[in-house]
Amino acid sequence: MDMLFDEDLKAFRNEIARWVDERLAPRAEALDASEEFAEDLFKELGELGYLGVMYPEAYGGSGIERPYLYFTVLCEELARGSAGFAATVCMHGSTATNTIHAWGSEDVRQKYLVPALRGDMVGAFAITEANAGSDASALRTRAEKVAGGYRLNGIKLFTSGAYHADFITVAATSDPSKGLKGIGLYLLDTAAEGFSVRKLSKFSVRCSDTNELLLDNVFIPDDRRLGDEHGGFLNAYKSLTVDRIFTAALALGIGRAAYEAALRYAKERVQFGQLIGKFQAVQFKLVDMLAMLEQCRLYTYYAAALADRGQAITTEAALAKIVAADGCNEVCQKALNIFGGYGLMNEFPAQRYLRDSYFPMIGGGTSDIMRLIISRQLGL
Ligand SMILES: Cc1cc2nc3c(=O)[nH]c(=O)nc-3n(C[C@H](O)[C@H](O)[C@H](O)COP(=O)(O)OP(=O)(O)OC[C@H]3O[C@@H](n4cnc5c(N)ncnc54)[C@H](O)[C@@H]3O)c2cc1C
Repeated sequence: MDMLFDEDLKAFRNEIARWVDERLAPRAEALDASEEFAEDLFKELGELGYLGVMYPEAYGGSGIERPYLYFTVLCEELARGSAGFAATVCMHGSTATNTIHAWGSEDVRQKYLVPALRGDMVGAFAITEANAGSDASALRTRAEKVAGGYRLNGIKLFTSGAYHADFITVAATSDPSKGLKGIGLYLLDTAAEGFSVRKLSKFSVRCSDTNELLLDNVFIPDDRRLGDEHGGFLNAYKSLTVDRIFTAALALGIGRAAYEAALRYAKERVQFGQLIGKFQAVQFKLVDMLAMLEQCRLYTYYAAALADRGQAITTEAALAKIVAADGCNEVCQKALNIFGGYGLMNEFPAQRYLRDSYFPMIGGGTSDIMRLIISRQLGL
């Protein structure tokens, strides 16, 4: 694994880890309790240049050679501090901005991508609807062609970060009879007339707002269509494929935090006159957690390294997401067990880690949908 982490990447990890320990982790519990996204920390990340690690210098990005590895490290470290905060940053820094960078005009990139990488704008991505979750192709939001642009009508569900977002890439169909080929991507400015958002309450990644969006005849100018009218589903799919690596990294960060907290606790808590870490049952749990985390790390960074080499990652990214998401959920269950009754108390973080560990198993496609994707790759 160390082969992938050269001195620059290690230095990058150390820097962001320090920021997480000093700025993010101390606020994680309060952010979780209030279900509030930390806009001030988001802005700070932008000013420090972290939001642009995947993009060229021309747009204020870092212009680094191995962007996927760097962004994976960023997601892991942020999630170690607060998975909710990390989930919004992850969606903003990947699919929300990637769809603009890949398919937006130069004007659109200057207007939205540049401020987004500085942390002055928040971006979101909306494909899911009430009846189009795993089967995103069933989406019903309409994009009707009118003079100078499109009128969007529909309701989107579970959009991360939209409550604070300045722009949202929305998937909509201009011709339902064409199925997948009728779907395009449209860049919605949240200041547009006819747009409204409702924040939903939930038990996992609580400080990443999850929202319902109402699009009531929202006008989108022609130049804010990202890509052509018919290739949106394929484009979204490409972006979401890479995104699975970052979701795996979120899981890894949550799992690490849970493991480190449980290890510390095992060295502090005394029962029957000795530290609980001296009981073999507790030791074996911790070793199994470590083994699982190493496995998650290998799969996740292997997929990121392949992506940086421009290789196909459909199977590897889906595998990384299954292994890391399901594996880290197990790690978090064991961590909670080691905390005993205190594990259920809100003053201890074990319950938050376990709650947060459910998000990577669902967000960006459930673990069973990952299995379905891999089965198809196997020709089944
Ligand atoms: C916190 C959170 C944040 C999210 N953020 C975003 C976002 O920013 N943007 C966005 O567009 N979406 C977002 N989503 C939506 C997310 O991608 C979907 O919730 C997910 O894809 C599952 O869809 P669903 O919830 O409708 O479940 P369903 O599709 O209804 O699935 C229900 C169950 O059926 C299973 N299932 C469904 N189809 C199959 C099949 N063919 N084979 C086997 N099993 C199957 C699933 O695995 C699951 O267990 C978010 C979701 C959450 C919870």
